[in-house]
Amino acid sequence: MIPFSPPRIDDDVIAEVVDTLKSGWITTGPKTKLFEKKLSEYTGAKSTLCLNSATAGLELMLRWFGVGPGDEVIVPAYTYCATANVVVHCGAVPVMVDVDEKTFNMDLRKLKLAVSERTKVIMPVDIGGFPCDYDEINSFVKSPVVKALFNPENEIQKTLGRILVLSDAAHSLGAEYKGRKTGSLTDLAVFSFHAVKNLTTAEGGAVALNLPEPFDNEELYKFLCVLGLHGQNKDALAKTKGNWRYDVITAGFKVNMTDIQASIGMVELERYDRDTIVKKKHFFDFYNSAFKNDSRFILPVYEDGDFRSSYHVYLLRVTGINEAQRDEIIQKIFAREVSVNVHFQPLPLLSFYKDLGYKMSDYPQAYNNYMCEISLPTFYDLTDEMLQTVVNAVKDSVAEVVSD
Ligand SMILES: *Cc1c(COP(=O)(O)O)cnc(C)c1O
Repeated sequence: MIPFSPPRIDDDVIAEVVDTLKSGWITTGPKTKLFEKKLSEYTGAKSTLCLNSATAGLELMLRWFGVGPGDEVIVPAYTYCATANVVVHCGAVPVMVDVDEKTFNMDLRKLKLAVSERTKVIMPVDIGGFPCDYDEINSFVKSPVVKALFNPENEIQKTLGRILVLSDAAHSLGAEYKGRKTGSLTDLAVFSFHAVKNLTTAEGGAVALNLPEPFDNEELYKFLCVLGLHGQNKDALAKTKGNWRYDVITAGFKVNMTDIQASIGMVELERYDRDTIVKKKHFFDFYNSAFKNDSRFILPVYEDGDFRSSYHVYLLRVTGINEAQRDEIIQKIFAREVSVNVHFQPLPLLSFYKDLGYKMSDYPQAYNNYMCEISLPTFYDLTDEMLQTVVNAVKDSVAEVVSD
């Protein structure tokens, strides 16, 4: 059976984890701090905060910005549930917008129609690793008309003076837009290091901080370390320096990354561009050359002018099929010993959001993209032989279900 997305755990990762275990320092400490520094160097972010998940990072930043009841946060209808769940946790309303046919990302024309005087944050998602058009989004929130709509309700919102752009970059570490990497393109960007993501720490995430003047991203980093650790003004490492007494300045969260996680991330990051991304791109190129010139398939875009993907999820679409046929094709692919997946069920299809009143029919493009989508394996250890097995399994399964 070809699996979908096993993590890459090799001797280098194991050695680094063992080194951490033997060091006597397993929670947040020197390796987490070093990993944060390396991530900032890699993405070009002004500062980076590592946490135990991307979800925690998204929620922490919404709470820092003071998002709460009465507020709206704009999210795409086509994303993983975490993007909208964190908005609900804060008591605010996720306002969903439909997606672009070609890229699967938020349709920016529809985004512009969704803004209201209650909008506090826009959360674009780089689906599959393909970056959104960030110049377009950033100039939109800075435009006089949109700024005039903004209703600041606390000091932080007053200082920014406009809608915050908090990108869900869970898929897009290493993706580029106009030669710059995600993490340096928006006020805040949040990466995921979950086991299935391009770069893993088993579980983990990071917030890339790039707020404009007069915000001090280093000062904010220090505050977020406190907010993410019970609101305690001294972490365990600082307390080893002799002065045991600490204070609690707010009822903070408990979302810090451990040095065990950071040690996996360090190994992964060091080889990310020269190795992981190169392999991932090869898988995308292999699939594209196998499925192009075959009118039954719509290929994902992953390199297009100013945009370059992180090659995270290969989103293949089959033309002219409905959801039931897609599911039948997937069963037949599995019967051929190949694991595939679907990214994602649009949020209005999920019981919780359906019960809140979101209707799938309001997001027709999200549904059209979803109903014929099949995500193919792109994990590190795939060989060309395995890729060919995947291609054959997909083509044969489609041929059985779709008669032309
Ligand atoms: C994986 C994922 C997340 C959540 O990441 P965690 O690190 O598991 O919290 C958020 N958004 C998207 C689009 C994702 O795919």
